[in-house]
This record gives sequence, structure tokens and C-alpha cells, in this order.
Amino acid sequence: MNIILLGPPGAGKGTQAQYLVEDRGMVQLSTGDMLREAKSSGTEMGKRVAEVMDRGELVTDEIVIGLIREKLENTDAPGFIFDGFPRTLKQADALGELLEEMGKSLDAVIELRVDEDALVGRILKRAADAKAAGQPVRADDNEESLRTRLMAYFKMTSPLVGYYYAKGTYARVEGMRSMEDVRKQIAEKLDA
Ligand code: ADP
Repeated sequence: MNIILLGPPGAGKGTQAQYLVEDRGMVQLSTGDMLREAKSSGTEMGKRVAEVMDRGELVTDEIVIGLIREKLENTDAPGFIFDGFPRTLKQADALGELLEEMGKSLDAVIELRVDEDALVGRILKRAADAKAAGQPVRADDNEESLRTRLMAYFKMTSPLVGYYYAKGTYARVEGMRSMEDVRKQIAEKLDA
């Protein structure tokens, strides 16, 4: 089973992806994590994407599609969770083609519905908690980059809701409930 978790920054995609890894042995493919890894390892690509990411803008489709292709081709898994990808219609088309090439299917696209008012607060709290615990704070977890990330989401990514709805793979869960409740809602959708 291959699924996409869709939702704005702060919706809890990473947390739920982790649960799916625990519960079902699926493999999480987070383009955000891949890009942060590239950034910290100082590769040529990492250097190129660093500023874009820190500002909260989207990295080019070519780069992220390339990263996903490489992972998909080199990872054996009972199923993949796409977290933070696709983020544009072009990425969505590319993912469809890639999966088809590999004889795989996309089984569900789950949107974590959240109250927009809560997002900025959630992320700023995450940053404050990390700082208080002496952990590193993401360079894009500041108010300005966050506004840019939200705008990128609504401009570029939210059309994917309609795209997958029309394809018939779309499902929605209530993301404002507790993490455990959201976990259960997702399980119900996947088992349906
Ligand atoms: P968020 O918590 O905002 O959902 P992620 O960890 O998924 O963030 O991604 C962090 C940053 O990495 C994004 O703001 C963007 O710059 C870049 N990025 C991640 N995935 C993609 C993608 N699929 N396409 C373009 N840029 C991406």
C-alpha cells in the first residue's frame, strides 16, 4: 500500500507517518528530511537548496522528483508513505508516472484537515519547545518563513486536494483531534 499524507505545515504529517511506520512497517519518504539531510551534509545540491528552504519557499520540482525517484528505485518496502511530497501538480503527475513505471499504485491520499488559525501557533510552539530542550530549531520555523510556507501550501499544494479527489483516491481525517485519535482515523480509512 502506498499513500500520501497531505496537509499544511504543522498539520502533523511527520507524527502520523511515524505511527504508520510503527503500525504497518511502511517506509516514510519525507522530502523535507531528505533536503535537510542534503543541506547539512553540504553537498552541492544541499548548498543550492539551503537558502530557498530557510526562506520557506519551495525547492524546484526537478530536485525533489529526482530525490524521490532515487529513493523509490533503491528501497524495498511493503509500502511507502509520502510525507511532504508531492507539493505541486507537476510533482503529483511525476509521482503517478514513476509509480506506474514501477508497477506500483497509489492507494490513498489522506488529508489532515486542520484549523488554519492553529497552525502558526503549533509550529512556533514546536520551535520554542525544541529550543527549551536544547535541541536544534529548524531554520524555517520562524514567523516570517512560516508565513511563506503557508502561502506556498495554499498556492501550490492545496490544489492537490481536488486533483486526488477527482482521481478517487482522496480521504480526509480530522487533524485537530489528539495524535492518537488522528492515528485511529487514518487506520480506519486505510482498512476500509
Ligand atoms: P513542513 O513542516 O513545512 O511541512 P517539510 O519538512 O516537509 O516542511 O519541508 C521543509 C522545506 O523543504 C519546505 O518548506 C521546502 O522548502 C522544502 N521541500 C520539502 N518538500 C518539498 C517538495 N516536495 N517540493 C518542494 N520543496 C520541498
